[in-house]
Amino acid sequence: MRFSGRERHQVFLEPEGLETEEYYANGVSTSLPVDVQTKLYRSITGLEEVEIMRPAYAIEYDYAPPTQVKNTLETKLIEGLYFAGQINGTSGYEEAAAQGLMAGINAGLKIQKRGPLVLTRSLAYIGVLIDDLVTRGTNEPYRMFTSRAEYRLILREDNADLRLRNIGREIGLVSDEAYHQYLEKKGSVEQELDRLKRTVIKPSPQINADLERRSSSILSAEASLEQLLKRPELNYGDIEKISPPPVSIKPDAAEQVEIQVKYEGYIERQMNQVKRYAGLEQKTIPPDLDYEAITGLGSEVTQKLKQVRPVSLGQASRISGITPAAISLLMVALEKRKRGKAAG
Ligand SMILES: Cc1cc2nc3c(=O)[nH]c(=O)nc-3n(C[C@H](O)[C@H](O)[C@H](O)COP(=O)(O)OP(=O)(O)OC[C@H]3O[C@@H](n4cnc5c(N)ncnc54)[C@H](O)[C@@H]3O)c2cc1C
Repeated sequence: MRFSGRERHQVFLEPEGLETEEYYANGVSTSLPVDVQTKLYRSITGLEEVEIMRPAYAIEYDYAPPTQVKNTLETKLIEGLYFAGQINGTSGYEEAAAQGLMAGINAGLKIQKRGPLVLTRSLAYIGVLIDDLVTRGTNEPYRMFTSRAEYRLILREDNADLRLRNIGREIGLVSDEAYHQYLEKKGSVEQELDRLKRTVIKPSPQINADLERRSSSILSAEASLEQLLKRPELNYGDIEKISPPPVSIKPDAAEQVEIQVKYEGYIERQMNQVKRYAGLEQKTIPPDLDYEAITGLGSEVTQKLKQVRPVSLGQASRISGITPAAISLLMVALEKRKRGKAAG
């Protein structure tokens, strides 16, 4: 039914374990009746005598439109009730775990009468996930693909600690030991980056022989260690041998130094993008803003804004159907409101 136009379809037979004859047939997910499944599997070359140990089945689930929860995952209608996971329209273990973490953190912070924790799209995939859900809603099970993040280059596994550990520490979720390890790594990365910038190597027969051995072009003028590390054929290990730091740094810090130096140009470009958009993200919209009173918005845009109640102009701009013109009108309305408040 689903691939009726195709002549071929790939199926992976995955062994379920070392001591079982059971295989998982990846690629033939189905909910057809069991006798039809048997015929279907036996029609596959090599599986003519296959026995089904557990038939495939489908599940159906309901969800609450995620535009009905705030970016803290607290429901808009019932204060103190938080939704996380599949109930918000997602599918997946990580998606569910990430939301569970954030809902738990925010529920905890609320009870302690502390401010909420919202991660931005440029800070974490969790930020992208929750912002997508609460802003756009979803019509099909939402999965967190890397392609959904516009700042992929800075959302890396290798810098997750540098991005997020401080935040974790502030809300009381990072132990002293983990925090000190993080501070040590951060410190040694910063120190080493600084040393690479400041240390200048002069051309000499010895350094040029070193470079030639590593198939790198020889120096005809002075170059900083940072410039040398930017060469694609040289890695941090090479630089460390050419000019060792006073105290050798740990492998994870060395990896970070290498990444930050080699990709500096790309990372900087993306950070500038983040800064440009941060302006809109910081322009907050009060939750009680009367969209009906803003002339020129149009009824469809007004409806959408009322439904989502975005917390910032940035979030408003990502709602489907919200035009740049509508954002300008909102900006003016917020400005007027601010001046009105100041005057009154
Ligand atoms: C067959 C199958 C294969 C899957 N394979 C993968 C995969 O390979 N990779 C992947 O990432 N995801 C996979 N998923 C999706 C993933 O399992 C789910 O999206 C995820 O587990 C949802 O987590 P959750 O915590 O939101 O919901 P659930 O794990 O469904 O948790 C909800 C819990 O609430 C309990 N509950 C319900 N009603 C009540 C009540 N009234 N009172 C108290 N408790 C209640 C339920 O018993 C349940 O324990 C698969 C799902 C299925 C069905």
